Amino acid sequence: MLKIKKNDMVKILAGKDKGKSGKVLAVLPSGGRVIVQGINFTKKHVKRRRQDDQGGIIEQEASVNISNVSVVCKRCSQSVRISVDVLSDGSKVRYCKKCKEVL
Ligand SMILES: [Zn+2]
Repeated sequence: MLKIKKNDMVKILAGKDKGKSGKVLAVLPSGGRVIVQGINFTKKHVKRRRQDDQGGIIEQEASVNISNVSVVCKRCSQSVRISVDVLSDGSKVRYCKKCKEVL
């Protein structure tokens, strides 16, 4: 089970956006990378396709390696270690190691 899911709040631990936090917009199918709102913007050049097309440069979030982000606990309001537990019915839950809040 992945410890990071869509809509989680995460903090960036490395790279140019280190220290910032944002919401996970998507976890890429490979599972190793996530796209975080407002983080790791890259400029992308867009070609004009039509006469009235603006074209030019758009900025878009690029994926971030999952090992460079950390889940922010809703209760602690800081990045915390996440534990995964298997319940008796076989389902898995994630919880904050610090306050035991289920995330
Ligand atoms: Zn917590």
